[in-house]
Amino acid sequence: MVANAVLHVADVHKNFGGLRALSDVDLRVDEGETHAIIGPNGAGKSTLLNVCVGRIKPDKGHVVFDGEVLDSHTPYQINQLGVSRVFQTPEIFPDLSLLDNVMIPAFASRDGAFRLRPFRKLRLEGDVRAEAEKNLEDVGLAALKDTEAGSLSRGDKRRLELAMCLIQKPKLLLLDEPTAGMSRHDTNRTVDLLKTIKQRGMTKVIIEHDMHVVFSLADRISVLAQGRIIASGKPEEIKGNPVVQEAYLGG
Ligand code: ADP
Ligand code: MG
Repeated sequence: MVANAVLHVADVHKNFGGLRALSDVDLRVDEGETHAIIGPNGAGKSTLLNVCVGRIKPDKGHVVFDGEVLDSHTPYQINQLGVSRVFQTPEIFPDLSLLDNVMIPAFASRDGAFRLRPFRKLRLEGDVRAEAEKNLEDVGLAALKDTEAGSLSRGDKRRLELAMCLIQKPKLLLLDEPTAGMSRHDTNRTVDLLKTIKQRGMTKVIIEHDMHVVFSLADRISVLAQGRIIASGKPEEIKGNPVVQEAYLGG
């Protein structure tokens, strides 16, 4: 089991001034697994994902991805190793078309400087365009490919961002509240899409408030409260766990 861990967050601590955002956090995500992280607002969920992608460096502990300790890696390097992320607030290029938005990360980072010269060269190549079109189709946005991304609804922006991640074919996909602000219809479509991705064997960590989404997708769930993992296990073990109930009611 240890050999198959794609991600291991080992004893991570993070303080913001006097505030303890993460404490003793230990998280192991196995290959092909969809691991959900749930917990009240301010529990440290986004901070944990930021630590995994190198945007925040832990005060103590470390992150191991695919056997490599990420202590000194930049977000760009971590992305290049195969970690891609859907942010809590969509990060897209509002003035560019959907197609251009998806083509850019095909050969650049989701999280660092974009190398625009190769982009101009590559965009002429049909295979990148075709790949981008396929990714837009997968997320249900093909009809809008020439539309400016800034004009999309919030739900569609999230789906665009997902396409921008998927074109990178990441080994590990991190999703920070991918259905936030979506209608029930759009949420269901996103769940279907994430199920398809799961069938392809992609390892995922998903932060999610919507318990319907969590229980539809997760193989395992970890519950974060006040910076600590207070419970971890299969969905049926987490459901009805009194400690979890208390953390939610208290949060
Ligand atoms: P969650 O995503 O679970 O809602 P966050 O990880 O965003 O929680 O935040 C955890 C705690 O850390 C909160 O109290 C938040 O205010 C604080 N926090 C997050 N980021 C920063 C930061 N950059 N500077 C100071 N405090 C922060
Ligand atoms: Mg958050």
